[in-house]
Amino acid sequence: MTTTDTARPGTASFAVRRPASQGAPAGLPPVGHFINGAFVPGSSPELLDVVNPATEAVLASVPAGTAADVDAAVEAAVAAQVSWGATTPRERSEVLHRIADILEANRAELEHLEAANTGKPRSVAEDDVSSTIDTFRFMAGACRTLTSLAGGDYAGGHTSVILREPVGVVGVITPWNYPLLMAAWKIAPILAAGNSVVLKPSEQTPLSTLKLAELVAGHIPDGIFNVVTGQGRTVGQRLSEHPDIALVALTGSVASGQAVAATAARSVKRVHLELGGKAPVVVFPDADLAAAAAGVRNAGYWNAGQDCGAACRVLVHESVAEEFTRLLVQEVASLVVGAPDAGDDVEIGPMISRQHFERVKEALAAAKAAGLRTAVGGSALEGPGYFIEPTVITDVPAGAPIASHEIFGPVVTVETFASTEEAVKRANETPYGLSASVWTRDSALSLSVPKQLDFGTVWVNAHLVLANEVPWGGFKGSGYGRDLSLYALDDYSRTKHVMINHGV
Ligand code: NAD
Repeated sequence: MTTTDTARPGTASFAVRRPASQGAPAGLPPVGHFINGAFVPGSSPELLDVVNPATEAVLASVPAGTAADVDAAVEAAVAAQVSWGATTPRERSEVLHRIADILEANRAELEHLEAANTGKPRSVAEDDVSSTIDTFRFMAGACRTLTSLAGGDYAGGHTSVILREPVGVVGVITPWNYPLLMAAWKIAPILAAGNSVVLKPSEQTPLSTLKLAELVAGHIPDGIFNVVTGQGRTVGQRLSEHPDIALVALTGSVASGQAVAATAARSVKRVHLELGGKAPVVVFPDADLAAAAAGVRNAGYWNAGQDCGAACRVLVHESVAEEFTRLLVQEVASLVVGAPDAGDDVEIGPMISRQHFERVKEALAAAKAAGLRTAVGGSALEGPGYFIEPTVITDVPAGAPIASHEIFGPVVTVETFASTEEAVKRANETPYGLSASVWTRDSALSLSVPKQLDFGTVWVNAHLVLANEVPWGGFKGSGYGRDLSLYALDDYSRTKHVMINHGV
């Protein structure tokens, strides 16, 4: 049973659906850092509150980690990596499959916890946990099938062998939008490649990562996976500078990526960065406009648009702009906003925090002040909770700030173009380079345009479809390094050339 808060007068008919009663989530993880296979208290008494963004209630408090906490975790990770790095791919594969089995057996609890901590709809939480499990299973198989240059005599009388080795201890820093899934995208290939991990979850969403630690404790070797909770500027900073960490991997904002890379440079640490995005959706006049509008409904508003690959910036040919916008507005007007426990048909949850909610509201206010047209939505919804109406903004001119900078909310902008050349040029006019989509039924355009687009993933007649077999990662301001696929295993290992002189 649900109740509904009425939307503010003058806005579209969006309202926040809420459950009749909201209990505390079951199965909260232990509070503490997870170091060497056990939960331990932080070295500082300071705690950070973890908030449910759909209700604004405090769910739990976790330790504000310190550099000393990171150092203890790294010490455990260094010790554990020695024997873990010496295991065979088959042994590592068995451990990763075990993690996947444990996740599978506890999926309902994980989904519930993830939804409570992020406010995301149950359908999104279910998808996150399914994808998390598949990430561990894929990496369990992939690490057994690595290929490389054939061993052989490339210099006369000398046989060359290429070894693929772990890098050692990897520091991982994750964001709040897909807390468990982003952790899995790092942990699975890092462990598969024979490394150990010290992971800092987002201070806003540490619960599912701590739950993962609780569930796998005692089922995987102690010390190969460690979690230190806390702030980026303390825990993240120490991970970036620690001399015994060989590589630091961050999924997060461009500013955090720059800070991590600058710090890591001092110890010449390898860096793996998955940063922001502002994905253009290029709709050509021959496209199936209904399919494109439905595609944006799904990929622009999935996880309330808090997705680095969100289909948030439409570039549509001027000859079909009116019809496409009509279809898109119709699609978006039917989205259901609500708290995770308010029903399986809820599609849009809250913004993750009050601070982020205020940022999205400011972007909407700036667009209105600039004279842009709000075709649907455009306002915040009544609290409690940080809900924003699903929004479409049209008449957006080239170079408008709302179409250039990440908003990370349920907001899609629509611009028009007159020629293919203009579409490509405008799509590439963004500091980001993570993902884009092209909508056309013309087979020549479906290859020629993606080849000209400066993005790490380009979909044709689709958007936001991912698979573990294929890489994910950006160009330009979206960072470098690849998640998922065999390319991630490459990123988390190093090659060594051994050359044997057999001519003596
Ligand atoms: P954020 O950068 O604020 O935080 C990400 C993580 O970095 C957090 O754990 C945070 O504590 C840490 N951090 C912050 N400052 C740091 C510092 N100076 N040193 C070390 N660590 C620091 O990002 P967010 O708001 O949690 O997540 C949203 C951002 O993440 C968006 O920009 C989004 O596009 C990006 N993102 C990218 C991908 C991808 O695959 N490319 C996926 C998800 C999210």
